[in-house]
Amino acid sequence: IARFDKYVMHNYGRGPETLVVVRGEGCYFWDSEGRRYLDMFPGWAVSLLGHCHPRVVEAIREQAGKLMHMDNTYYSEPQGKLAEMISTRSFGGQCFFSNSGAEANEGALKLARLATGENQYKFISMIDSFHGRTFGALSVTGQAKFHNGVDPVLPGAKFIPFNDTDALKETFDDEVAGVIVEPVQGEGGIHIAKAEFLETARELCDATGAMLIFDEVQTGCGRTGEWFGYQQFGVVPDIMTLAKALGSGAPIGAIVAKPEVAAKLVPGTHASTYGGNSLVCAAGVAVFETIEEENLLAAAKSIGNHTVEKLNELAAGCNIIDHVRGIGLMIGIQLTGEGAPIVAKCQELGMRINCTHGNILRFMPAMITTEAQIDEAVDILGKAIEAVA
Ligand code: PLP
Repeated sequence: IARFDKYVMHNYGRGPETLVVVRGEGCYFWDSEGRRYLDMFPGWAVSLLGHCHPRVVEAIREQAGKLMHMDNTYYSEPQGKLAEMISTRSFGGQCFFSNSGAEANEGALKLARLATGENQYKFISMIDSFHGRTFGALSVTGQAKFHNGVDPVLPGAKFIPFNDTDALKETFDDEVAGVIVEPVQGEGGIHIAKAEFLETARELCDATGAMLIFDEVQTGCGRTGEWFGYQQFGVVPDIMTLAKALGSGAPIGAIVAKPEVAAKLVPGTHASTYGGNSLVCAAGVAVFETIEEENLLAAAKSIGNHTVEKLNELAAGCNIIDHVRGIGLMIGIQLTGEGAPIVAKCQELGMRINCTHGNILRFMPAMITTEAQIDEAVDILGKAIEAVA
């Protein structure tokens, strides 16, 4: 810890009670003292298959021994295979691979400007949205706290309340290059889009040729119980961005765009040295194969429903939970008070959960979580709430 504190920047709020984590397996991780923790927020929504899923580990091992990295001068097998897997499970688009969610959104914004008219430069985004920390992604992130001290960001971003169809219609004009929206706001606190709102966005974009961009960094790759979050609402985007669960621990992101839109990314317009790296793409292929072969989309739905049921039972017996909302394995617990002491108590009791916006607890368990593990998690949460009260 002393070495870390001396040589690593202090941009993350690691408190004095923070652990040194040395190992992870499935729904658990272990600290350097040998204590085990039940993880209800593995990897900040990255490890959708749990920690160190054996199939992902094996795919990485095998690929590492064959070809770790091949630059985009040449064709490489894992990148093409992963692109096909994403495309055939979504809307038949083409992929550009990046290394993170923010980087995928950066590229999506560039692509939107490239694919629309010369006067189209604005982006409509949502209040309380989160799209990443790089300048472009930050420009369309609708939370002032992330802009503090680094403004001015990219010009042209307009923010409206999430799900406010009237505000969307009023703000939209023929200078808009794109509407960027998370089908379920994750960092914003698990707020689910209304189908009617997304349909209106689709119609407005169609009328001017603007791009409808779905940021599926958090909702993508099975998290909601469908391959992609948009499939819950029946509204198809022009551009979709992915990251987090796509590699279930391997750092990868992607832009997926309808072929006619993707065609605007001609040589020279965009690139990433590591993008489509063989190692991480092999991991991505293993993620898709595992979800499919182990029927984990259905598991995401049933485990998600079970979690909400158990949390509702807990909510009925305590005042601090206002209500529970969720879709698949994205579950938010709206509190009437502060969440931080509850998160700290859970950690003391051997479980990790997350709190966002001060009073929304997030459960985003792995697809491989069992009902018994969920029951244990809700039991620990109940004990933590009682202790804090
Ligand atoms: N978009 C959404 C919806 C996210 O939740 C996040 C991260 O939490 C990002 C983008 C940024 O992703 P990354 O941290 O990989 O850059």
